[in-house]
Amino acid sequence: MCRYKKHIAKLNFLATFYAIGYKRVILVQSLLFLVNFSAHSQGPSLSYYYNPNTELSWASSHIFFEGGSKQRISFLPVINYTTRAPMGTYGYSKNIELFGNIVFVSNGISMETGFDCYENLDVSNKVVMFYYDFPEKVNDSSVIKSFDDRILDAILHGASGIIAASYKTPAPIKYFKKYPVIRREVPVIVVNRNTADAILEAAGSFYKDSVEQWKTAGKLPELNEHAKMPIGINLQMVGEFDVLTSKYFAIRFHGEILNKDRIVPLVELGDKSVAFLLKLFNGIDLKWEKEHIVYFANYDSKLFYTGHWGMGLSSEAGIFNVRLNGNKEKDHFGLIVHENAHSLFNNNLGGTNSFLNEGVARYAEAKATNPEMNNLETIAFLKSRKLYRLERLLNIEIGESTEQSEIAYPASGSFVEFLLETYGIVKLKQAWTSNFSKVYKMGTFELEKEWLLWLRKKYHLEGDIIKGHLNKNN
Ligand SMILES: [Zn+2]
Repeated sequence: MCRYKKHIAKLNFLATFYAIGYKRVILVQSLLFLVNFSAHSQGPSLSYYYNPNTELSWASSHIFFEGGSKQRISFLPVINYTTRAPMGTYGYSKNIELFGNIVFVSNGISMETGFDCYENLDVSNKVVMFYYDFPEKVNDSSVIKSFDDRILDAILHGASGIIAASYKTPAPIKYFKKYPVIRREVPVIVVNRNTADAILEAAGSFYKDSVEQWKTAGKLPELNEHAKMPIGINLQMVGEFDVLTSKYFAIRFHGEILNKDRIVPLVELGDKSVAFLLKLFNGIDLKWEKEHIVYFANYDSKLFYTGHWGMGLSSEAGIFNVRLNGNKEKDHFGLIVHENAHSLFNNNLGGTNSFLNEGVARYAEAKATNPEMNNLETIAFLKSRKLYRLERLLNIEIGESTEQSEIAYPASGSFVEFLLETYGIVKLKQAWTSNFSKVYKMGTFELEKEWLLWLRKKYHLEGDIIKGHLNKNN
């Protein structure tokens, strides 16, 4: 799994948010919340979407000639990070029906002085196509622009849609994140080189030859009147989701795939989960803000629409969950409680470290479904000598690595239960934004020892297990 880079991107994105004072800044370390962690249940590989045999019941894209022929192309939508929705859907509120001629603008760079791929071109109401990562040696480094800036340039030039082509990545996924608020969203898709080649070939040998020359001679193609290709693109995507609202939520879902009957019980569970959480964390003043939830029928559509792997995601844009078929009500309730706990704490208290953040959610999830699950899983890791030392656990970005997360998830939940039972909720709130040693007036080692002794007493464990653990290096 390649999560690391996305996580960094997320932090950069948050930094941008912070800089412009967006109203819901959450400087949280780990927003990639995954629950029910299993390495095999995270969703398809990206190559799945780029396989020409893959068909999406919610979206399709073709290039076409006016003569009547057409060819299907594989793509992924570029995700607007602010809404966690495909660009052009305005946050799950608008269907995409893009139909327009393609204009090829090489690398899509537009500078105010000296270099402009849009020079003498009218791209208004046309679909702009460019390579965003053409080999650097053929670019003048003074005219490098970021992916987001190239997208924005195309929008500012009046394009009705954008095909961002990758030269280097066989299965690209891209996020538009530098500009949290843009007034005009247009559909933007990302395609790989195979698809870009197919488009160029369809448009005629001139284009393919020009790009080949670009690569070998390092000279940008002289397109001029040729930029406007003799082909068009037709992109369809369900972007307007159905909405159900309740006291605490606005829930969106694609009604044709996910029947309303399957969502209604979740609305009730959602409201129930908020009441449950407010009671569970009674003692500090937490308020629930009406939350936006999007449900997907499975991992394939969730990954397509949000660019996020896994069962659930809680972010500043709302909550994004998979509603698996055949899951029992208890399983749904666990997921809802988990993700809503993230929202409740992050919206009220801001961000904290990954261990505490997941700990609170896992603790609440356990209390709602299987109260002993975190402690028993932690004890199993303790017994097999796999449990990490607390110092190490505190530094894990949970969700980024399968192996570490498998251990850190239950440990975080058990640790939070220990803190709450022993020191209470007010101290936990202080620890959310401070450091443990300050709040609990002891070092990590003492705190770890207390936690394990608490576990030992609760489950009548043998003393040697704890001694053995504390002698480990990490
Ligand atoms: Zn989580």
